[in-house]
Amino acid sequence: MFILSEDSQRTQGRDAQSSNIMAGKAVAESVRTTLGPRGMDKMLVDSGGEVVITNDGATILNEMDIEHPAAQMIVEVADSQEEEVGDGTTTAAVIAGNLLGEAEDLIEQDVHATTIVEGYHEAAEIALEAIAEQVSEETVDDDVLKQVAESSMTGKGTGGLTAESLAETVVEAIRHVELEDGVARDNVTVHTQIGASSNATELVPGIVIDEEPAHDGMPDAVEDASIAVLDVELGVRTGEIDAEYAIDSIDQLNTALDAEESEVRGYAEQVAESGADVVFTTEDVDDRVSTYLAGEGVLVFESIGDSDAKDIVSATGATRVGALEDLEEADFGQADRISSENFGDDDLAFIEGGAAAETVTVFVRGGTEHVVDELERAIGDALDVVATALESGEVVPGAGATEIAIADKIREEAAGIEGRKQLAVTAFADALDVVPRTLAANTGRDPIDALVDLRAAHESEGRAGLITSGEDVTIDDPFDYGVIDPADVKREAIESATEAATMIVRIDDVIAAE
Ligand code: ADP
Ligand code: MG
Repeated sequence: MFILSEDSQRTQGRDAQSSNIMAGKAVAESVRTTLGPRGMDKMLVDSGGEVVITNDGATILNEMDIEHPAAQMIVEVADSQEEEVGDGTTTAAVIAGNLLGEAEDLIEQDVHATTIVEGYHEAAEIALEAIAEQVSEETVDDDVLKQVAESSMTGKGTGGLTAESLAETVVEAIRHVELEDGVARDNVTVHTQIGASSNATELVPGIVIDEEPAHDGMPDAVEDASIAVLDVELGVRTGEIDAEYAIDSIDQLNTALDAEESEVRGYAEQVAESGADVVFTTEDVDDRVSTYLAGEGVLVFESIGDSDAKDIVSATGATRVGALEDLEEADFGQADRISSENFGDDDLAFIEGGAAAETVTVFVRGGTEHVVDELERAIGDALDVVATALESGEVVPGAGATEIAIADKIREEAAGIEGRKQLAVTAFADALDVVPRTLAANTGRDPIDALVDLRAAHESEGRAGLITSGEDVTIDDPFDYGVIDPADVKREAIESATEAATMIVRIDDVIAAE
């Protein structure tokens, strides 16, 4: 009896397990060389010839166009890591891959999948305890936050800028949007603009949008602006222009044109009389209206995007108005300054010092598209880790030190675990060694030697990482070198990697429709 369609493919038992594990491992392996300050970049070219150069784990995995369902689960590990904490995506993927590798060995030794799953979950619990023990007792102040930002950016393509100066901008941005109970991370945006060196990257106390004034004669800047945000077309509606007029004399034509003229003029006057200095509308503005408003010294931006309109509303406190006759002063938003600036082919509008919300924009400059794109990703990660560290107040040593400490604690506790599960728990510790091993390999050191040295230093000193500074690689306390990661980044990496690896290991039957 056939219950599946003839075209469907089915793999069962060990074959299914090992093909899934292999696929998962292969994906994790693909990002391994990008880990850490000496990690290399990848260049990804899509079928349309579009090129992305990046060091970011989640970006690489997403650009890779991965089809295998088990491999796709590793991509999801990186994605959820990115979403939850914004950094540690390579770490999480690499750990997941190694958990799978260890599981493969265990399966070969006839350890049952459910035993592996139980052991891994138990080990993950111990790992979380170990992370808690690694949390620094120092308060997370600006200096610590800068180090956290810098640690997340070293090794990224930050153009001519040092991670140090960028870290300062990042911390300033997050401090700007700090609330009494947390951080309004969404109030920090990153806007990229090519055409200058990355040194010109700066913090704008407000928002930046890609728009130009509706008319050349409008002011370049308005101070203390009263801002109207409209969803109104300022002109004769396009539909009406197309309507057929039954005109059979010149007089009638002139009357029709006069009517249109006065309608248009009416819009312009209504706007001018409302008292708004700056107008943003999501619809079109007739040239005659913008000419008139330019004469009145009003700055108008037309056909702005819906999301830009939302950002302006939340920054300035304006109320969006859908009909001109409803516009009144109470609907106006306020900002210290609204200006328009030209950057080569692009015109940007800066809305600074909005009255409603403390929004800030990291205005990223760079020579080329590739540079600003990678800079944007690096800054995005740094903003996330600083927000995470500030919110939880918990940071741990980086440079592999936390992973060494976790593995050590798991091995210690494994001794008290009975039966084959002990093998799985120990295997989890072995899988974590991949982080220091990879950091070592990516700096050109022998991974085995480095691991031995690190463990010895951890044993004697308590905290030991493989620190890269300039050309030097030292085994020492990462806190002394400012190599610091948020505790939540490590927690999330352990949790999401464990989840994906155990899910893959448990599968023993793959049924695929053609
Ligand atoms: P991920 O995508 O996992 O964040 P990264 O390439 O950003 O990958 O590398 C992060 C790892 O690099 C962390 O373990 C972090 O502690 C480590 N790291 C950061 N700066 C240094 C440094 N100066 N020396 C050694 N390790 C570092
Ligand atoms: Mg990182």
